[in-house]
Amino acid sequence: MSSTPTLAVSAAREILTRLHDVMASRSAAQVKLNQVVQIIGETLDSEVCSIYLLRDGVLELFATRGLKQEAVHVTKLALGEGLVGTIAEHVETLNLDEATSHPDFAYKPETGEELYHSFAGVPIVRRQRAVGVLCVQHEASRRYDDVEIEALQTVAMVLAELIAGAGLIDESATASRDPRETGAVRLTGLKLVEGMARGVAVFHQPRVNIEHTVAEDIEAERHRVYSAFAKMREQIERMTREAEFGTAGEHHDVLETYKMFAYDEGWSRRINEAISSGLTAEAAIERVQQRTRMRMREIDDPLLQDRMHDLEDLSNRLLRIVSGQLSTAAQLGLRHDSILIARNLGPAELLEYDRRRLKGVVLEEGSLTAHVTIVARAMGIPVLGRVRDVRRTIAEGDLLLLDGVQGAVFVRPTTAMEEAFDAKLLIGQKRRAQFAAMRDQPPVTKNGERITLMMNAGLRDDVSTLDVTGADGIGLFRTEFQFLVSATLPQRERQQRLYRDVMDAAGDRPVIFRTVDIGGDKALPYMNQDGDIATEENPAMGWRAIRLALERDALMKAQARALIEAGAGRVLQVMFPMVSEPWEFDEARELFEAQRKWIAERGRMLPLAIRYGCMLEVPALAESLDILLPKLDFLSIGTNDLTQFLFAADRAHPKLAERYDWLSPAILRFISRVVRETKAADVPVGVCGEMGGRTLEAMALIGLGIDRLSITPAAIGPVKAMIRTLDAAALRTAMADWLIKPPASMRAVLEQWSEANQVAIA
Ligand code: PEP
Ligand code: MG
Repeated sequence: MSSTPTLAVSAAREILTRLHDVMASRSAAQVKLNQVVQIIGETLDSEVCSIYLLRDGVLELFATRGLKQEAVHVTKLALGEGLVGTIAEHVETLNLDEATSHPDFAYKPETGEELYHSFAGVPIVRRQRAVGVLCVQHEASRRYDDVEIEALQTVAMVLAELIAGAGLIDESATASRDPRETGAVRLTGLKLVEGMARGVAVFHQPRVNIEHTVAEDIEAERHRVYSAFAKMREQIERMTREAEFGTAGEHHDVLETYKMFAYDEGWSRRINEAISSGLTAEAAIERVQQRTRMRMREIDDPLLQDRMHDLEDLSNRLLRIVSGQLSTAAQLGLRHDSILIARNLGPAELLEYDRRRLKGVVLEEGSLTAHVTIVARAMGIPVLGRVRDVRRTIAEGDLLLLDGVQGAVFVRPTTAMEEAFDAKLLIGQKRRAQFAAMRDQPPVTKNGERITLMMNAGLRDDVSTLDVTGADGIGLFRTEFQFLVSATLPQRERQQRLYRDVMDAAGDRPVIFRTVDIGGDKALPYMNQDGDIATEENPAMGWRAIRLALERDALMKAQARALIEAGAGRVLQVMFPMVSEPWEFDEARELFEAQRKWIAERGRMLPLAIRYGCMLEVPALAESLDILLPKLDFLSIGTNDLTQFLFAADRAHPKLAERYDWLSPAILRFISRVVRETKAADVPVGVCGEMGGRTLEAMALIGLGIDRLSITPAAIGPVKAMIRTLDAAALRTAMADWLIKPPASMRAVLEQWSEANQVAIA
């Protein structure tokens, strides 16, 4: 049975107009509910209209017109019991011409409902969960019109507001939204940062709480939606221009879909119609979304489900704009131990969270070397990425157990799941204790080679990890993290203070400061006043790192001075990121030398020496090593960027996250060649990308002749354990052959070799 939108609008509007006065009155909630059932019954010409609310896990008849009044507060149905229980459990609408013939029908004699044949019921939904059911019954055996069902659904939204406002909603109720989402669920994903975490689900972009559903002034509501649409389109246009440079970390194809929906006439028209029926802008957006959700649930097409997520996102964005509730969960503050849920995040957004409360992150996208992952790793926060259906399956406040070892998250866990998790947690703690006990043991291979094992850092707090892990020093200090956590450009004094503190804490251990590497997914909104950073199509390959720093040399000069002054009386080590040609290194070095001279002329204390190094991240640089090496004090291979450029595969692209292997012959041969040439020139060479923090990959690097690794602090223990069980000379011999004639899977061969030789691979 089809119906025209105008009819639906007028049916709903008639009810809402009458409900408006009820809602505004000061009567008790029970009185209001009694009035509501009368109004709906009369308007839809139904002998019966009843409201059931979820109390203590059961659906209780709260108000009725047409059923026996003695049944009110007496008739109760469990979730899933009878038609009403089925509606609540599945959050679905039922429309039947013969109620008794439905398999879920349950007869309740106290109500006297046997007289009525037709039945229609809709869930009363709050935060995507059913908190009650609104139903109508009719003596004659006829299905209700779509128009009437639409009207009922709209009224159910208003009822949700009424009963929440009156405190009648059982907030602890766990009526599910979908049969697949009942009770405990295990979701799997890609391990981005290992670790175990327990916490409540917190959405990075919290759901908007709709306070008013019935419009006072329909034209005003229409206007609010128009301007929210305009604002949202503007935001999306900007995000598209900025591509990954935007702080939201959204990807290009997602943005394209956003754009498609944002300009979709059908969507805005439906919202408009919902407003015409008497809803506020917020309620209209939510109403349309609810309807879409219900429709989509019936279609089991993964492609469409993905689209649905995009529409959910946009709908939420529109709601946030229209309601002015714009804060992220970080800005609202975490109140409990929490696990953050997001589609994706930028590194700066993650850094906004309170580290004491943030226990884990679950992302729908994400990749191993995206900077948000690196920041989380530095913060010691487990991250699970590429988890499908997160936002549909998890509700705000759900208990989550994140098992970063298995690569799974348990949602609303059963006791058995909790017990298994706790047991694993204990094993993890024991393993960590074993690694911690190795703190003072040197990373020496079985055949007596001392590997320099340093850690990567970037945040002030990271430095204390030096002592905990027993690392040889900091092989990569990402200075841009200070810029990312700051709302404004950090002044020279602030930079200097941080660098000095880091060197103080490191004592005799070396610290290699990398000059700012901003650009790519490390956006600094405050640095883009000229708008020249944001216009890039391809920021990872664009104007970033040393390229930007040499042109915006005021920034680089301030940093050079801060570093040189902080390094007074000690050996200062600096390295430059993203050098593609030797002249870029020369210019950066000259800039530092000019600052050294400037400070010397003022009679201030200088570093004992400045050692200049360079990162090898751009493949082209490998072709100029003969020119570059004589000028270098050290070389550090940045495998994160290097692999993305070697494979021409965006390091943050979710679809490419697992496509190329670090252990592919292309990468290993490339590194092997660089190591050979660098060692021949007597220049120390190490690896500071994420690759070195994984035991099997670290083993392969040592097999290529790498003897310096700078890795994430949590990996120091496992990598050291690997080193201490490895015969590096034997591996080098084996690898030399494999590089000449690569096996089908280098990873498989390395795994077999490590097993045969009893190397501790974690
Ligand atoms: C790299 O690219 O490997 C690297 C260490 O730098 P970052 O991850 O900060 O880009
Ligand atoms: Mg890099």
